[in-house]
Parts: sequence; C-alpha cells; structure tokens
Amino acid sequence: MARHASVCSHPTDSGQDTTITTSPSADGLWYLDLHSHSTDASDDAGGTVEGYAKWIVARRKRGYHIDGFVLTEHRQYDPATEYSALSEQYGVTILRGAEVETDIGHVLVYGITPEFVRGFDLKSVALPYADVFKAARETGGFAVAAHAGRPRIGLAEHVDTRGVAVEGIVTAIEQLNGGSSNEENGRGQELADRFGLKCVGGSDAHFVSAIGRCLTAFRRPIISVEELVQELTHGEYHPVTVEQTLEAGATSGEVRG
Ligand SMILES: [Zn+2]
Ligand SMILES: [Zn+2]
Repeated sequence: MARHASVCSHPTDSGQDTTITTSPSADGLWYLDLHSHSTDASDDAGGTVEGYAKWIVARRKRGYHIDGFVLTEHRQYDPATEYSALSEQYGVTILRGAEVETDIGHVLVYGITPEFVRGFDLKSVALPYADVFKAARETGGFAVAAHAGRPRIGLAEHVDTRGVAVEGIVTAIEQLNGGSSNEENGRGQELADRFGLKCVGGSDAHFVSAIGRCLTAFRRPIISVEELVQELTHGEYHPVTVEQTLEAGATSGEVRG
C-alpha cells in the first residue's frame, strides 16, 4: 500500500493526504464502528477518545476505511459531553450513544434523548428489555441487542433458554462484535437468520488498537446521531471486519495514483 494512500481523501493540489474527512469510500459505503468505550466514562477502558481518532487516521494511511465511531459508554449518558473539536481536528466522525444492561443482556442505544433518560435508571443492570427497545423507538432513537451471541450478556442465550420474545420488540442485533469469538458471532448470525433481524458490527473497543476492528457498512454518509438513527431505522447496512474495508481503500489509492 502506498504510503500516501489515505482511503477516503480527495486528492489535494499539494498531494497531501490531509483531508481525510467525509468523502465516501471507493465502494460508496460509509463505515462506522458502532460500539466503543473510552477512559472518559468507562472505568474498564484504557483508550482515550483522541487515541481512537489518531489510530483511525493511522489505519486509513494503511488503506483501511473507517469513517468514525460511536462511543457507547457503560450504563450512562452525559448530554453535555461532545467531541466535535476532536472530530474536526482528525476528520473522524465521533458520535455518542450508550450501552445499558437489561434482563436479556447488554443493549446499545443510539439517539438518546432526555425523555429516554428520564424513563430509566441507566445504572441498573437489569432494565426491562422490551421497555428499553420500545422507549428508544418512541423517543426518536434506536436500540440494538449488543454482542447477541455471547453467553449471559447476549440475547441469543435468553431466547434459547428462556424463550424471551424477539418479534415486535427487537429489530436489530450486533451480530459482529470485536470482543466475541467466531462461535459467538455465529450464534448471533443464527439468531438474525431465525428472526429476520438487521445486523450491525462494532469493535467493543476498550483499548486503542481495537477501535474499528468491526464496523457497520452504511449506504449513506453519517455525521450526526440523527442520521445514524435514520439509517439504522430505515436504511440498509451490514457488519464488516476492518479487513473487508481494504478493497475500498485500495481502489481509492489507485484513483489517486
Ligand atoms: Zn457489553
Ligand atoms: Zn461494550
């Protein structure tokens, strides 16, 4: 891979690869890591938000395509936190959601509103899952069953052993999770096939080198939470590993010569 082959940049007059911001990949897809934790709010995480952004810039230079990531800190959501300055500085989309804990395992919530927060004690480790999915939808957000194939904290086991309801409640799962084994991700795929669920991918990064390992490929650019919720609700998308984004990067590199 050529040293300058930054995957999502428009060529500049100077030939510098400084504008690695919001242009689509060569395959027209938009790649976001939908699941990450940082030192800012998850005490089991060692990665800083800036560290993640820097890592993504470095990955792009190696031909990978990562447009950005969503911070989903454990059991909390601080509406005052925002990362627009870092986002601009590094040309990386940085959005925020949360990972909450329910009676069917962990759930990623995007598009969190004050109304949603008022309805739940986010610190709880056993929120009623059907209420969480419903409230997310009704308050303009979107919920995803996290690492669905993992024992205890993923949806599949609760469906298999307790017969919890999926239809009419859960519409999407994190099928590809960077912290899960192949078997666990396979179990997520079986669940998705059985119930016709949409699938996303996320790294579940707690440390810098893990960010972007697993991603969700969207058909449209996403630079706001509103756009993310819109695409998750109505758009088409699928999970990918970061290796699968190399093709997009390679093509882009050729175009730039
Ligand atoms: Zn989790
Ligand atoms: Zn997580």
